[in-house]
Amino acid sequence: MDTNLPVSAQPRVVIVGCGFGGLRLAKELADAPVQVVVVDRNNYHNFQPLLYQVATGALEADSIAYPVRKIFAGQKNFFFRMADVKGVNSAANTLQTSIGDIKYDYLVVATGSLTNFFGIESIEKNAMQIKSIPNALNLRSYIFQNFEQALLATDPEHKQALLNIVVVGGGPTGVEISGSLAEMRNHVLPKDYPELDLKKMQIFLVEAGPALLGPMSKASQGDAKRYLDELGVKVMLNTGIKRYEEGKAYYSDTEYIPTENMVWAAGVNGAALPGVAESSVTRNKRITVNQWNRVEGETNIFAIGDVANMVTEEMPKGLPMLAPVAQQQAAHLAKNLQRIMRNEAPQDFKYFDKGVMAIVSRNKAVVDIKNIHFKGFLGWLSWLFIHLILLVGFRNRVVALVDWAFSYVSSGQALRLIIRPFNKRDVKDDKGKRAAEQAAATPEYNPTPSAVQTAPVV
Ligand SMILES: Cc1cc2nc3c(=O)[nH]c(=O)nc-3n(C[C@H](O)[C@H](O)[C@H](O)COP(=O)(O)OP(=O)(O)OC[C@H]3O[C@@H](n4cnc5c(N)ncnc54)[C@H](O)[C@@H]3O)c2cc1C
Repeated sequence: MDTNLPVSAQPRVVIVGCGFGGLRLAKELADAPVQVVVVDRNNYHNFQPLLYQVATGALEADSIAYPVRKIFAGQKNFFFRMADVKGVNSAANTLQTSIGDIKYDYLVVATGSLTNFFGIESIEKNAMQIKSIPNALNLRSYIFQNFEQALLATDPEHKQALLNIVVVGGGPTGVEISGSLAEMRNHVLPKDYPELDLKKMQIFLVEAGPALLGPMSKASQGDAKRYLDELGVKVMLNTGIKRYEEGKAYYSDTEYIPTENMVWAAGVNGAALPGVAESSVTRNKRITVNQWNRVEGETNIFAIGDVANMVTEEMPKGLPMLAPVAQQQAAHLAKNLQRIMRNEAPQDFKYFDKGVMAIVSRNKAVVDIKNIHFKGFLGWLSWLFIHLILLVGFRNRVVALVDWAFSYVSSGQALRLIIRPFNKRDVKDDKGKRAAEQAAATPEYNPTPSAVQTAPVV
């Protein structure tokens, strides 16, 4: 297949991934003397921090996604190809994709991350994940399908399993989704399902570490736990889920929580591409880069965002997998690429930490900016404001604002439709294979990485 990309006299910068990093980089190169080619398997940019709101029916999927071509309309040096990237041939400077090979002068890998199931096959097969819009829509459908099933169930343990929800991973995603589900249970479901005894429905948040929101301040950790307790979420710390089968989430060899609804938010791996210098790929599939985001062992290949493992003195385990890291690296790399093309020395990247935040429920969020901690209504307002301005597209901001305002006054999520029923049997057979590959890459189950996902403050 021919990718039909125009031949240009200018160097071609190929960016794989139009997430937070790829999008920002392509924009920053708008006036640079280069041809910019972005390749993504989706034709939209996805605002991942709000995925949990799609999963719990608070926002429409359309309001957290934006078409790539619309974002770049008018940018003359920009070309987009929707394709799955299979690998890199660095000797030939080509990218192997589902639509054919693409030549590059400079390659930037901005592929983000993938859910890490720590090689536990039963969990990968049976749990729901929340990394993409289809994941979030599946989760929404699946939970509501199970409530419909609960109405019909006669076996008490099965009924309980259909109602119970287990969220694994006490990072911001786990905290946000369990808080949101608890609100739904407390305010929305009793009206929709008067025949169900929803007092029996339990929401568990299971975290392997000793605290929720690992990288946040002790004050934020404590406040988030207290908010969840108040909402009736059962927080289980120092607990790991070992396997999940036949509606049973085992946290020891014999003890289990009956549940047909498990959300796995316990960790992520980098989405490294095959063919990039193998010595640079870490155990959790991130690509080690230097302070200019250049991949170790390569000359014209760079990596930014979640997939890039940039170690600094302050962060010896690598910069966190956060949207602001991806965006700041992108903006910095845009300048460095132009310096490199002018034969000037590139400059080192410095991460500016603007703070972190996590929302628990209506009027309740926790925020840490440097040593300042605030929470409650002020934290919640800050969270809403920041996420609103970070959403791409005016329409999306308006729709999100209207949906949030409606939920606020009505105390209920509006979108409880099962439009595309989800069947676990649809889960692909290669899941077991991928779990085994991950097992080889990840030596032990220590799912604290979830805790690095926190919200940008500015
Ligand atoms: C549920 C959830 C909540 C989060 N909440 C927050 C938060 O509150 N605050 C925060 O700062 N961060 C949060 N994060 C993390 C944040 O989303 C990431 O740090 C950020 O998206 C990283 O940007 P990126 O550009 O590296 O990758 P991404 O934004 O993940 O983009 C990667 C892109 O690459 C494409 N891609 C990947 N592989 C291929 C391939 N082989 N071929 C073609 N295309 C490919 C994908 O389709 C995607 O568009 C959250 C993440 C999740 C999953």
